[in-house]
Amino acid sequence: MAEAKKEKPAKGTLGLKRRFYIVEGDRIRREKPFCPKCGPGVFLAKHSDRVSCGRCGYTEFASKQGKS
Ligand SMILES: [Zn+2]
Repeated sequence: MAEAKKEKPAKGTLGLKRRFYIVEGDRIRREKPFCPKCGPGVFLAKHSDRVSCGRCGYTEFASKQGKS
């Protein structure tokens, strides 16, 4: 009888990834840090020397570790 073939989506539609992640090979680099209190989904606002959560007020200062 009639064969119903499922049409696959055309290639080249993988451009809509989340901007918050940068996938480099096997690694996933987070573009923005999450709030440890609010959990994943709540991003920290980035400032010059610190990041802060606009939801709970958590603030994390950027610690310069060794590099120059
Ligand atoms: Zn928070």
